[in-house]
Amino acid sequence: MAQVHLKNVEKKYGSLRVVHGIDLDIAHGEFVVLVGPSGCGKSTTLRMIAGLEDISGGEVYIGDALVNDLPPRARNISMVFQNYALYPHMTVRENLGFTLKIAKKTQEEIDAAVHAAATILSLNEYLDRRPSELSGGQRQRVAMGRAIVRHPDVFLFDEPLSNLDAKLRAQMRVEIKKLHHKVKTTIIYVTHDQVEAMTLADRIVIMRDGIIEQQGTPLEVFENPVNTFVATFIGSPP
Ligand code: ADP
Ligand code: MG
Repeated sequence: MAQVHLKNVEKKYGSLRVVHGIDLDIAHGEFVVLVGPSGCGKSTTLRMIAGLEDISGGEVYIGDALVNDLPPRARNISMVFQNYALYPHMTVRENLGFTLKIAKKTQEEIDAAVHAAATILSLNEYLDRRPSELSGGQRQRVAMGRAIVRHPDVFLFDEPLSNLDAKLRAQMRVEIKKLHHKVKTTIIYVTHDQVEAMTLADRIVIMRDGIIEQQGTPLEVFENPVNTFVATFIGSPP
């Protein structure tokens, strides 16, 4: 059974259709990258999966549950954005534990989850610092840590590295891949950067103008682009 299943999912803003009846199945533990030019509907698709955006048509399933009408909190999904904001007045420990505190977990449960997340992301020695005392990469790891403390079934990433410089972006790609190996959670990752897509994905899904042009392993797509658009997009230098 698919972990995430989109059936003929559509999004309209007024009369403008920005996602045109997408079908997509994502297996448990799979790392899927949605890639395509700016404005093609990647974020909208992700936000519909998260429940942050109403869908105009079709069905979204998480596991075997139809979640069309479930609010984000009830979907057991965590999302990491490009413009993530850490709480500046809180320590790393408090930033990591905050969502569990809101969910009324006991202090013991919070401590255990924070410790586990900090270990996975190598943040243990920074737990008492505030965000202003961290490097960009460390802050990014805290943002990811905040997403994993809840043990989500699915992780959504929306261009999480776009604000970082090239060197840090390359480092964080490795971190994200390691994170996936450790937690084995299903990941749906959005980027407009084809290199990022090719290096991270188990499966790459290429979108254009609200439709899926092609999907497959990076190698399949690279060796067998279905049309000139895909060939040009994948083959262009970053
Ligand atoms: P991507 O993430 O691939 O860059 P988006 O999903 O953000 O693209 O946007 C897809 C299209 O939907 C774009 O043409 C964008 O202008 C439009 N769009 C996104 N959000 C809204 C909105 N709230 N109202 C109207 N149009 C929107
Ligand atoms: Mg976007």
